Amino acid sequence: MREETEVLIVGLGPVGAALGVYLGRMGVKVIAVERDMDVYPMPRAAHLDHETMRLLHLAGGAEAVSKASQPLSAYEFRNAQGELLMGFSPKGALAPTGWPWTSMFHQPTLEHALRARLATLSSVSVRLGQSLKGFRIEGERVIAEVETPDGAKELAARFLIGCDGGNSTVRRGAGIAFDDMGFDEPWLVIDTVLKGGVTRISTVGLQYCDPARPVTSMPMAPGRHRFEFMLLPHEKPEDVTSDAAIAAMIAPYHDPAQFEIERRAVYRFHALVAKEWRKGPVLLAGDAAHQMPPFLGQGLCSGTRDAANLAWKIEAVLRGRAGDALLNSYQVEREPHLRMITGMAVALGKIVCTQDREAAAARDRDMLAAPEDKRMNEIIALEGMKSGVLPGGGMVAPDARFQGARLDDAAGFAPILLTREESEASRAFAASGGFTVALSALEGGAEAFVALMAGAPALLVRPDRYVFGAGEAAPLLAAWLAYLASGHAAAPAAAA
Ligand SMILES: Cc1cc2nc3c(=O)[nH]c(=O)nc-3n(C[C@H](O)[C@H](O)[C@H](O)COP(=O)(O)OP(=O)(O)OC[C@H]3O[C@@H](n4cnc5c(N)ncnc54)[C@H](O)[C@@H]3O)c2cc1C
Repeated sequence: MREETEVLIVGLGPVGAALGVYLGRMGVKVIAVERDMDVYPMPRAAHLDHETMRLLHLAGGAEAVSKASQPLSAYEFRNAQGELLMGFSPKGALAPTGWPWTSMFHQPTLEHALRARLATLSSVSVRLGQSLKGFRIEGERVIAEVETPDGAKELAARFLIGCDGGNSTVRRGAGIAFDDMGFDEPWLVIDTVLKGGVTRISTVGLQYCDPARPVTSMPMAPGRHRFEFMLLPHEKPEDVTSDAAIAAMIAPYHDPAQFEIERRAVYRFHALVAKEWRKGPVLLAGDAAHQMPPFLGQGLCSGTRDAANLAWKIEAVLRGRAGDALLNSYQVEREPHLRMITGMAVALGKIVCTQDREAAAARDRDMLAAPEDKRMNEIIALEGMKSGVLPGGGMVAPDARFQGARLDDAAGFAPILLTREESEASRAFAASGGFTVALSALEGGAEAFVALMAGAPALLVRPDRYVFGAGEAAPLLAAWLAYLASGHAAAPAAAA
């Protein structure tokens, strides 16, 4: 017999798991199939930004990360002589979201926490050891063929979401090609455990831009350290992955005897963006939709933003509070943000990966021409969203204290209306499932909202925590409803 669900998630990496928690928390019926029994064993993400921690908090994953992570004091790019070419350091410990600017962590810790949260949600059924083999679209539904230990089964879903990683079966099945943003470099990635109970060897993340061999050295969770070594043109993976080869590569920087090698893998770092992120009831998120080189530590962060953008839209469409057109806004809103970050990651990668000695010398001359204090910058603040918001909106909303906890916790996945005073519009918004809060009821952090409001009586924050816009409550909410119906955000005057 064919099983029915509202959403079928394929792939329970961090993005599929976060999406599953978001949907499950909203009561959406989800089946999540994952090919493997355990989380991915190879070294991957080591850094999460503050916005991602905030979004993962909503998925129940941030607390475990927070207990086993540490901030970077700086991220530096140095040349073969050890001179600072460029660096970034956070201003203050916490970002306005209430989370550290950087959290250096161990990806399996996050994935186990997300899966544990998923297991608590009654509307979500997790199926480990099951693979999507193919799918077809029948009317408004997707019929998926899944290989299970009991043989092939069909599942019918209103939406199929491919969170199945870089080699996505869903993307290939939907006939969606990648756009290549022009990066393809081989790197060896080593995760180590520090011996003797040492928690860290540095709080600085380093890119050694040495043309003889570009190297990354990065703190991870306390007690762990990441090294990455670029392969030279003549090298094959088997030339660099032995204990002896790794020790020889670490030796110029640290005593290799300090480190126990935990995991090792050779990757090609790519910059790829799927040309379509939605085809009818089929959507892509995370690495299935895009991959970037890790020099900004933003791949998983970007996938988490995908999940946060998509989850509340799917729920609103399923429950009839939004038009199907809202789902077309997913790629429109996410792709420019993702391309901006990928472009930055590629630019940093090109600085690091220079193996031509003359080009490296010219790079060093150019970058060292600036005075040293000008080469050290505040941590890169990512631009916000350019569409799906009103003019003046789009920035990541701050968090605040409310009723002894985070405002984020109180609001869940509802849009948040902050007001100076109650109005008929704000009461109607609350009655229809929105979360309304008076600025005067905030117990800390109100100033950041006041600054964003710039004198306006109300501010609306989307469920994915981007500011939708500020203005009079009634036209603001009218613009929000128009956006839910059409997927296009228009200024209140035009929408009223
Ligand atoms: C060396 C390295 C360093 C990185 N560093 C960072 C960093 O510091 N910060 C950061 O934000 N990102 C970083 N990233 C990127 C980050 O790890 C990925 O973006 C992230 O893991 C992607 O998550 P995902 O859930 O989209 O995909 P995945 O984690 O790849 O999960 C996909 C899942 O789908 C399953 N699957 C595949 N096909 C099927 C099928 N047919 N049926 C069922 N299940 C299927 C797979 O088994 C897998 O579990 C790094 C990546 C690398 C390689």
